[in-house]
Amino acid sequence: MADKKLNGTVIVTYRCNARCSMCNRYKAPSRPEDEISLETIEKLPSMYFTNITGGEPFIRTDLNDIVRELFKKSDRIVISTNGFFTDRIIELCEEFPQVGIRISIEGLRQTNDDIRGLENGFERGYSTLKKLVEMKHPDVGFGMTIQDRNAADIAPLYRISDEMGMEFATASLHNSFYFVEAKNIINDRPMVARSIEDLVNELLKSNSPKKWFRAYFNHGLINYIYGQPRLLPCDMAFDTFFIDPYGDVMPCNGTEDKEVMGNLKTQSWDELWNSPQADAVRAKVRRCDRACWMIGSASPAMHKYIWKPAWWVLRHKLKLGKKYDMHELKVVRDYEEGGVTKEQLDACSTCNTHAAVNDGLPEASKYDAALSKQSRRCK
Ligand code: SF4
Ligand code: SF4
Repeated sequence: MADKKLNGTVIVTYRCNARCSMCNRYKAPSRPEDEISLETIEKLPSMYFTNITGGEPFIRTDLNDIVRELFKKSDRIVISTNGFFTDRIIELCEEFPQVGIRISIEGLRQTNDDIRGLENGFERGYSTLKKLVEMKHPDVGFGMTIQDRNAADIAPLYRISDEMGMEFATASLHNSFYFVEAKNIINDRPMVARSIEDLVNELLKSNSPKKWFRAYFNHGLINYIYGQPRLLPCDMAFDTFFIDPYGDVMPCNGTEDKEVMGNLKTQSWDELWNSPQADAVRAKVRRCDRACWMIGSASPAMHKYIWKPAWWVLRHKLKLGKKYDMHELKVVRDYEEGGVTKEQLDACSTCNTHAAVNDGLPEASKYDAALSKQSRRCK
């Protein structure tokens, strides 16, 4: 057994009730009978943090059993959800008052529902949030995936989260097998970056050290949107892992194709984690140039290389009243001055309009996904 506690993400299902514009996972769902079982979850190592995600995790009606099992090996659990299944979320939180819930809301009402493709999606997500606040659930937050269509909603959403005393998590568009997507891209980088810049300033103004570090994360998001190398090294697969609904253990969810270190259904944790196959994946991580900046890979790096974000925070807090300016990133200045073009920045991104996306499904599930797509078309 690995001595050190790890940071793990458990993808309990690839099924999803939403139809997000930046993610095609709903078109390539897992089959319920294939999805990770309690027996496989029992084999996971000790973790200091576990994120449960999907698809939409609350589609699984045995999620309470999964959380119960995971709490035996994890110090902290946070579930990412679109917030639609209010009753299931409330019921789970009643049983596990210590679990964290992050509801993704992609903008104010109209923007959210347009992006999410769920009728009443905003209403459902927001009312779930309100109910959790009313029941005084201690660890609730919401997150948004920043893109051209919702950049204007960042400030109002941050204000709502602040008033409700919640965490506000941000991400931006990524392409990978996990999202079954290769065409995501930010088109108006300066406009989107300016909205994030405002958020960075709001976060830096607060009295919460946690928010100051979130400001650094958002500074890194601007850097990512401009297609630059990560501000911090990526150490996924070294002390962090993802496991998919099939029991395949992977370094992360950002790779173009699914990278498999081993399978926990058929192997023990020690066997797969210490295998030559796992080491080969680690070698690929060392060479990876996708420069993702998602909380799953940035947060462990921010803890590991704490002196770098801490120094950034200190410098900005010591500026005493002087605002954060995204022009501290050289690429922002270069773009504005014409030293680098939009086409050059597009080429630095992971967007590939000609890519055939690998959805990471085994053959049997691919067959079922194709059948269900066909039956949707026939309706
Ligand atoms: S982003 Fe999340 S909620 Fe949206 S389709 Fe993908 S898995 Fe579902
Ligand atoms: S940069 Fe890191 S998180 Fe992103 S694909 Fe590469 S290894 Fe994965």
